[in-house]
Amino acid sequence: MDHFNITGGELHAEEVPLSRIAAEVGTPVYVYSTATLQRHARVFKEAVAQAGRTRVAFAIKANPNLGVLRLLANEGLGADVVSGGELKRALAAGMKAEDIVFSGVGKTRAELALGLDEGIGQFNLELEEEGVVLAALAAERGKRAPAVLRVNPDVDAGTHAKISTGKAENKFGLPIDQARAIFDRLAPLPGLDLRGVALHIGSQLKDLAPLEAAFDRVGLLIRELRAAGHKVTHVDLGGGLGVSYREGETPPSPAEYGAMVARATKDWDVELMFEPGRVIAANAGVLVTEVLWVKPGVTHPWVIVDAAMNDLARVAIYDAWHDVAAVRPSGETFTANVAGPVCESSDVFAKARVMDKVAQGDLIVLRSAGAYGATMASTYNSRALVPEVLVSGDRYAIVASRIAAETIMDAEQVPDWLK
Ligand SMILES: *Cc1c(COP(=O)(O)O)cnc(C)c1O
Repeated sequence: MDHFNITGGELHAEEVPLSRIAAEVGTPVYVYSTATLQRHARVFKEAVAQAGRTRVAFAIKANPNLGVLRLLANEGLGADVVSGGELKRALAAGMKAEDIVFSGVGKTRAELALGLDEGIGQFNLELEEEGVVLAALAAERGKRAPAVLRVNPDVDAGTHAKISTGKAENKFGLPIDQARAIFDRLAPLPGLDLRGVALHIGSQLKDLAPLEAAFDRVGLLIRELRAAGHKVTHVDLGGGLGVSYREGETPPSPAEYGAMVARATKDWDVELMFEPGRVIAANAGVLVTEVLWVKPGVTHPWVIVDAAMNDLARVAIYDAWHDVAAVRPSGETFTANVAGPVCESSDVFAKARVMDKVAQGDLIVLRSAGAYGATMASTYNSRALVPEVLVSGDRYAIVASRIAAETIMDAEQVPDWLK
């Protein structure tokens, strides 16, 4: 459920007409709904609470905007971060250090030290050597680093290959059958408080079965670790719950997910951590763009819009689907392609799409753009960096300004010898 609805013939974000934001901020522009973000955060928290002691850390790579993070911090969510930059964002947004989890396959020594100095709540270790280095850095500081081992359960998440992370051939996690031996070697290190395991098998999962299979494998590992005398008090179940990108799609609901988790983990007796990203943010945002031209095509017309793959990369990278809708639908439809101005054939948002009929100057939205949208934007083709707006009721604020091509150019220099 979201809060982007037609009122008086025009698409609104909550009570704000999208045409007003387009006129005042310009296009393309991302627009997020506070009520939708709040609702998603509350529904998810409540759903997983069925499973006992739980904590929720928003995977901030899905939407790292400071305004969005502050809103989610106010809802009691922590942050799952994958870089020092994200860690600093989470803190800047007002998240407590103890509510921050540090994931990622390539943390630098400086990033590990930053996490220790800030006193974050958990490090998710990706390899044995990382645990050794973290233990040494912690010991130097007279600290014990709270850590869990990320295991790779070797299950096929059944999602797009580029967002699958839990197969043995993926770069993420440790082979689950080696976890016990690695625990044996890392647990005695004085700088480490090794207290459990983590997993994350992929994103946009439309089926709970692979998750349940992975959780069952982790359940066996917990028993094996405890039998070997290890302490297992924390398990991080990652993110991955899919959302509806296409009207009529029915991915598992957070409530169904929570019920499955409760079933799969009922005799674990641990604190569970969750790292949802997409399910919180995706349907809380749209990308608003203006139709520049309607160009005749061989089979269908090309609706050329002022947003492009540099603003929203998901279609080009993952063959993703985003619903397209007119901000002021006339009631008429046509079949068209929707594309941006970037000089790449992959800069196409929709092909042979039955959509609201639009003409030059009309506004359209790409829906479900609140996760993995603005955060993946670039300035390719020397385009401006896309701005972001947060709506709450009848007001809105620009939460990220448009960064002009000239400003990006200011960071570049022609070397003296060429002048
Ligand atoms: C990307 C990621 C997430 C979030 O995934 P979603 O599918 O957006 O829920 C959670 N945990 C880790 C380790 C990730 O890399």
